[in-house]
Amino acid sequence: MLKPKSAELFDEPGCEHNRGKSEKQRKLGCSARSLTPGAAAGGCAFDGAKIALQPIADAAHLVHGPIACEGNSWDSRHTLSSGPQVYRVGMTTDMSELDVIHGGEKKLFQAIKEIVQRYRPAAVFVYVTCVPALIGDDAEAVCAAAAERFATPVIPVNAPGFAGSKNLGNKLAGQALLDHVIGSDEPEASTPYDINLIGEYNVAGELWQVRPLLDRLGIRILASITGDGRFRDIACAHRARVNMVVCSQAMVALARQMKDRYGIPYFEGSFYGIRNTSDALRQLSAMLVRQGAGGELDRRTEQLIEEEEDHAARALEPYRTRLNGKRVLLYTGGVKSWSMVSALHELGMTVVGTSVRKSTEEDRERIRDLLGEEAMIAGQIPAKEMYRRLKAGEADILMSGGRTQFVALKTKTPWLDINQEREHPYAGYHGIVQLASRIDAELDNPIWLQVRRPAPWDNEKAATGRGVQ
Ligand code: SF4
Repeated sequence: MLKPKSAELFDEPGCEHNRGKSEKQRKLGCSARSLTPGAAAGGCAFDGAKIALQPIADAAHLVHGPIACEGNSWDSRHTLSSGPQVYRVGMTTDMSELDVIHGGEKKLFQAIKEIVQRYRPAAVFVYVTCVPALIGDDAEAVCAAAAERFATPVIPVNAPGFAGSKNLGNKLAGQALLDHVIGSDEPEASTPYDINLIGEYNVAGELWQVRPLLDRLGIRILASITGDGRFRDIACAHRARVNMVVCSQAMVALARQMKDRYGIPYFEGSFYGIRNTSDALRQLSAMLVRQGAGGELDRRTEQLIEEEEDHAARALEPYRTRLNGKRVLLYTGGVKSWSMVSALHELGMTVVGTSVRKSTEEDRERIRDLLGEEAMIAGQIPAKEMYRRLKAGEADILMSGGRTQFVALKTKTPWLDINQEREHPYAGYHGIVQLASRIDAELDNPIWLQVRRPAPWDNEKAATGRGVQ
């Protein structure tokens, strides 16, 4: 059942890049390259699906599989909630050898029962992992029976790790929302100023840097899919007038299908950097006006952009002179590999290289457009190679996730966390100022002067011409 579904998701007509391919290439999909052994550790399809849906804060997220699958992804991302915390509770059916022999359906039903009785969540998402998929557990039937018995929506997410990449998991998660959630409820009221944000996960609270801008314009986020999301809001998402896909090719299929089913137009945009943020607000406003909002929205949007750009430019002034010309090596993946580049360019920085791990072909093309032929665009950079580049002084700072921080620290190079574990939000006009301030603080940290000085024993060795005894 998964194969035709995956093929369909990769043959996405809403994807600009896909439209330019031949029919044969389209069928192959953008992430359909065969995975190398061990690649699932970098994010399997289950991981991708969980990442995409777990930010729905008032829902329980139950992983049906051996406990290690849940351990793989639980709580490693700083996607924040402004209210409920049930999404943060790690839940798994913890399948054992006996369940492999006898089947895990009863255990799954019991687990859903316990969750509903104990936490009373708005819904339960059930993630099917490799083991129950291989032994043939009918999770869909169990979810349907449990939903009826416990009067709570129970959503099956059929994205076992072996199905493919993390990117495919994101897509399958979007499909689960379409199949089981969106359109299943009605909002109390709808207005011509209602939008959905798709693919914004509220990492470190980035949604909260965007929401106040929209509030000032009178634009309502009907559903955030899925950062700081609420199940009922997403169930009502089909009443929005416009969908914005936030830096996420993986979720474009969801937006395209909402257009086909409910007639909601969509566009893709980003909130990283001043220009991207202003472009996104302009586009939102123009599309809402076309969808029935008052024409004065455009004027108010321009006014807000002018004020905010002016404010951001003044706040960035002290950083611009200090950061101008500083060289960055970006080692991230997915959409951040390109969306961060334009934000760094606005700070006057030079991006000497970026990685395209887990990026789709569309992400890669955007990077090539932004960086031209000169900068390094790499897939995986082995630690040894990264060490060599940093040691040779090819970059002033490494911006990456926590796993590579020690390569930077060993070469005495400043490092900034820009992955999902980060503590600081970088979206919108305030976010770019925060990003500049964090980069500046890392570059200017007095520790670099100290650690780059020769050690006392090296000085002694140089003075005496002998090694220290
Ligand atoms: S779903 Fe499969 S590939 Fe993913 S963590 Fe679990 S066992 Fe590993």
